Amino acid sequence: MACSGETALPDAPIKIAVGGAAGRMGQAMADAVRADPALQLVARFDRPGVEGAGLVDRAAALELADVVVDFTTPQASVELAQACAERGGPRLLLGATGFSDEQVAEIAEAAKRVAVVRAGNFSLGLNMLMGFVERAARVLGPDAYDIEISEAHHRHKVDAPSGAALMLGAAAARGRGVDLDKVAKRGRDGITGARTAGDIGFSVLRGGGIVGEHAVTFAAEDEILTLSHSARDRGLFARGAAAAARWVADRPPGHYDMRDVLGFSRD
Ligand code: NAD
Repeated sequence: MACSGETALPDAPIKIAVGGAAGRMGQAMADAVRADPALQLVARFDRPGVEGAGLVDRAAALELADVVVDFTTPQASVELAQACAERGGPRLLLGATGFSDEQVAEIAEAAKRVAVVRAGNFSLGLNMLMGFVERAARVLGPDAYDIEISEAHHRHKVDAPSGAALMLGAAAARGRGVDLDKVAKRGRDGITGARTAGDIGFSVLRGGGIVGEHAVTFAAEDEILTLSHSARDRGLFARGAAAAARWVADRPPGHYDMRDVLGFSRD
């Protein structure tokens, strides 16, 4: 498959339901589906009590859809994955961030019965950046190069570091053959002591309407390499999710991510 995630047009459009439809990403997602001739928007739903033109309840949406694209919360995503697994469908794209390890395990369990793509960031460029970071981290070892990841997002974002920052950290850790949980330094304050070689540091900025900025710095005594990505419009994530929806529409059960969708190798 091409890296754009392009697939041939199916005979009939793939029926898409959007979860979290009243939210920022839900609205961008509905626009992306309407703009994609391979997809048909059949339902939009949000949490009970949220009013909005054309919203249906979740059960009705699951009846109508081939694929549900969901940008809600980790807990709502887990419940949705369990509901789809119990029914044997529809297939699922989960775009929320901030999952705990337990919640990821619950989704993996549901994915034994239904195809689930879970991605903290659906942009092609950001996923390309992950590959570059993994390669750089493999070569630029911890004795000489300190890895620091910085991210900036809008004032409404509720989790930190961002899902994409954590994915970049995981890519760097993979490159170095270490476990991110053992080397991550998530926030420094006060008398922290000197930096430990091999740490992967995170720093976070929140403000205004920033869509999403990520930078990975490899800092040595004598040079600094910075690899970065800037999202200009959240329609970017929605278009990536639309490509992932086309990809997942005929997949067997499994817990997938954007590397699967984009056909990136895992070595
Ligand atoms: P938002 O707060 O604007 O929207 C979230 C929506 O989910 C709200 O309308 C809320 O009512 C709804 N919701 C909450 N619980 C629900 C439930 N149980 N059932 C149905 N709907 C429910 O947030 P947002 O900016 O749209 O972001 C949503 C998530 O997507 C966040 O976790 C964010 O980090 C993530 N995100 C992912 C990507 C990506 O590419 N994967 C890109 C941007 C944002």
